[in-house]
Amino acid sequence: MWRCGERACGVLRRLSAGSADLRAWRWRSDAACARALQYRVGEKIHGFTVSQVTPVPELSLTAVKLSHDSTGARYLHLAREDTNNLFSVQFRTTPTDSTGVPHILEHTVLCGSRRFPCRDPFFKMLNRSLSTFMNAFTASDYTLYPFSTQNPKDFQNLLSVYLDAAFFPCLRELDFWQEGWRLEHENPSDAQTPLVFKGVVFNEMKGAFTDNERIFSQHLQNRLLPDHTYSVISGGDPLCIPDLTWEQLKQFHATHYHPSNARFFTYGNFPLEQHLKQIHEEALSKFQKIEPSTAVPAQKPWDKPREFQITCAPDSLAAGSSRQTTVSVSFLLPEITDTFEAFTLNLLSSLLIGGPNSPFYKALIESGLGTDFSPDVGYNGCTREAYFSVGLQGVSEKDVQTVRDIIDRTVDDVIEKGFEDDRIEALLHKIEIQMKHQSASFGLALASYIASCWNHDGDPVELLKLGSQVAQFRQCLQENPKFLQEKVRQYFKNNQHKLTLSMKPDDRYSEKQTQMETEKLKQKVNSLSLKDKQQIYEKGLELQAQQSKPQDASCLPALKVSDIEPTIPFTELEVGLAAGEIPVQYCAQPTNGVVYFRAFSSLNTLPEELRPYVPLFCSVLTKLGCGVLDYREQAQQIELKTGGMTASAHVLPDDSHLDTYEQGVLFSSFCLDRNLPDMMHLWSEIFNNPCFEEEEHFRVLVKMAAQELSNGIPDSGHLYASVRASRTLTPAGDLQETFSGMDQVRLMKRIAEMTDVRPVLRKLPRIRKHLLTCDNMRCSVNATPQQMSQAEKAVENFIGSLSRSKKERKPVRPHVVEKPVPSGLGGSTHASGCQVTRKLITDPTFSPCQMKTHFLLPFPVNYVGECVRTAPYTDPDHASLKILACLMTAKFLHTEIREKGGAYGGGAKLSRSGVFTLYSYRDPHSTETLQSFAKAVDWAKSGRFTQQDIDEAKLSVFSAVDAPVAPSDKGLEHFLYGLSDEVKQAHREQLFAVHREGLIDVSNKYLGLGKSTHGLALLGPENAKIAKDPSWIIR
Ligand SMILES: [Zn+2]
Repeated sequence: MWRCGERACGVLRRLSAGSADLRAWRWRSDAACARALQYRVGEKIHGFTVSQVTPVPELSLTAVKLSHDSTGARYLHLAREDTNNLFSVQFRTTPTDSTGVPHILEHTVLCGSRRFPCRDPFFKMLNRSLSTFMNAFTASDYTLYPFSTQNPKDFQNLLSVYLDAAFFPCLRELDFWQEGWRLEHENPSDAQTPLVFKGVVFNEMKGAFTDNERIFSQHLQNRLLPDHTYSVISGGDPLCIPDLTWEQLKQFHATHYHPSNARFFTYGNFPLEQHLKQIHEEALSKFQKIEPSTAVPAQKPWDKPREFQITCAPDSLAAGSSRQTTVSVSFLLPEITDTFEAFTLNLLSSLLIGGPNSPFYKALIESGLGTDFSPDVGYNGCTREAYFSVGLQGVSEKDVQTVRDIIDRTVDDVIEKGFEDDRIEALLHKIEIQMKHQSASFGLALASYIASCWNHDGDPVELLKLGSQVAQFRQCLQENPKFLQEKVRQYFKNNQHKLTLSMKPDDRYSEKQTQMETEKLKQKVNSLSLKDKQQIYEKGLELQAQQSKPQDASCLPALKVSDIEPTIPFTELEVGLAAGEIPVQYCAQPTNGVVYFRAFSSLNTLPEELRPYVPLFCSVLTKLGCGVLDYREQAQQIELKTGGMTASAHVLPDDSHLDTYEQGVLFSSFCLDRNLPDMMHLWSEIFNNPCFEEEEHFRVLVKMAAQELSNGIPDSGHLYASVRASRTLTPAGDLQETFSGMDQVRLMKRIAEMTDVRPVLRKLPRIRKHLLTCDNMRCSVNATPQQMSQAEKAVENFIGSLSRSKKERKPVRPHVVEKPVPSGLGGSTHASGCQVTRKLITDPTFSPCQMKTHFLLPFPVNYVGECVRTAPYTDPDHASLKILACLMTAKFLHTEIREKGGAYGGGAKLSRSGVFTLYSYRDPHSTETLQSFAKAVDWAKSGRFTQQDIDEAKLSVFSAVDAPVAPSDKGLEHFLYGLSDEVKQAHREQLFAVHREGLIDVSNKYLGLGKSTHGLALLGPENAKIAKDPSWIIR
């Protein structure tokens, strides 16, 4: 994987504290932290020396810094009472060309190592472990290998594999060919077919640059920091990748993947000594210190501003084809290792661009000149020197100068007027709540948070001390009320290192790209001798043979099915009635002083023609003002009092019938304990007095939403393909497409292009009448036990304030099933005897039909989805299909679609709704991939898999089933889907019981042609074969 221009370092974006250990209910316990505090500076442990021990109470952790004596490797351990332990090793990788060498190396080291010489140990470990996360990332200047797991044995296993992969990879030539690039015959076994470029990274990067936002971000960084490594593309430019040689790859490994250039990070409640011992023995003890020359020199500041123009492909899904120019102005900032300056500039950036009260939002977004901010707007701290960027996308070319003028004027304005105190308070409140809000993957969030600063030898521990940074910030403001204004003057007014970048669409962009690739190919092919060509043919065959060979993975460590917990921990829930009628689920959790409130409201009475507008209704509901608050005041209150208030449309499948589902809107929010009455008052105002009159602001929100949807397609094309392919398979599928499929993308594009949006705006109060009442509602609260009675009162007041319909509204669909939510033993005792009843829609006359849709998009790669209607959640077949999907992915599709096909990804999955999906992601092929899907089904039917394969698939399924759940989300499945712990436990037992015959049975019963209804969808470029086939609908 490769990350470019992503804001990996925003305090406000990334950091949300998390602890997963809720079974033990030890929320005040700090055993791990206390143990870590015992270490003494200078203490020697397994080849390491402790250099610093620091408690960081604001994040409930203790930081221990060490260095490795004989290699100089750096080490940071964060001890915290969290069972979701994380390891990562990070290398500073600073390429000087765009061949993608760090990225190809990241892929290739995962293809086999000295102790684990089998092919692709990394992917195989996915199925031999209960990891909660495994991945690798190439950033602009480092490469990071993280994993996390809750199981100590698993931690050791994964650590061995990761260490061996990073420090002792095989780096075989064929691996380089497969993962990087190669010349190969289109059909490798036919030397008559033309030679073409292939390779996983080659295709991945071609896919990545179909995303116009990425093109823009990449150029922005390259041009603003042109002196060294930031001027090249670490992920690889598809036109430069074919210049990389295998020798260069090995050389890059030798100089960069060395302990002296490495930073090790561990997090969680496992003891540190064991980690140190294993890392020393298995890796570091085998190296001597070197002096790595990987540092990035400081960027020389410019003496005058610069300007560049670039082009991109036109976006057929974005609104307004004549308005697709992007323009931004960026400024170089100080080094990110100056922790407090970085913190200040990060806050300053949020004040400048965050939310409708910020000066740039008012000046740029509300000018109507563009659709949304330009990519990478705000503070970017992923490079040695940080930068700030602001601008617009979706601009008409003639308005570019106006946008630039507005930016300059806004800077002047801020220098003069400064910021309101309330906004600064709201921002500091946001930091407080994000430190307390617990995510299930806190270790990973921390690893990403410190990665860039540490990479340039900044102090990662200083970075974690957010409490003292906030205090220092307050003090600076107090001593000098113009503190922030002076920073704006210094960095945005009197700064000559200023880049103006604009990007406009060129109708011939894709054609030119293809032409350049063809040129490159021609040049490569023309330089080949006959002997070279013979060799290429033979190597192609060899690679194909290697990929098709059965694989022996017995050298790899593995957990066993017996290592999986046989039962799930039950979650204590209580259900009470608010105002005597509305069911409220209470779940007491160690939430760290935060209250989570949710409400779910049914859409059953909503007229059909309004349904497509529900997602839009949701996205603007909390942003248009309510009661006496206009939208700016409302945004201010939400920031000052809550961690966020959102609404989203949902289609919830039933657990036992495929043709039954629940439809509704989920309202979610959270706040600090002390702000609960204020938050509930806000909800009350939103429900009772929402404002749908701000036409101008509505237009702004519509444009932003449409732009965001369109920008998301290159990253989520496979999801759009799957949603589309399952549209005609179940009644729920059709609604899902309406809410979140390509239909929704196109509807939003149409609305964004309307000259008069009033007809759409007028639909919102009509939706409101059906949705914002307590007629068909249920609520849930997650909070600490101490806070529960307060919460109960607040919810009671909220419900009491809501209107009730005078007469009962009839559901629009004739068939409604009332389904009581199973209470249950264990936790869900329902002391009050209250019962939640869900009203589901069913369609007894529904008959699934086959449909094939091709969405023509100007991408050089495809996203393919094929869906099959199968069995609901409680059916034992569902469990078998879930394991089968995993088995097919790991043992067949991965090889066919990624390794042989050159797609970035592909596999099979079973959704909760009982739809089985085969998909590919950034795929150079289309119809061939559909043939691979058919072969995968034949493979499954033939039962060519072993007991070991089945056990591995089970491990993989269980690592997802048992993924840690944050305290905020405990009981959520019960609340939304009506799934009790008993039903989940029964499903768990079905998963354990899945056996070989069952797998073959379900393959035959559902997946074979003519067995069950299939649906197909493809997103991608023009396709001659599909155009000729009348069974496809082209849109
Ligand atoms: Zn990659």
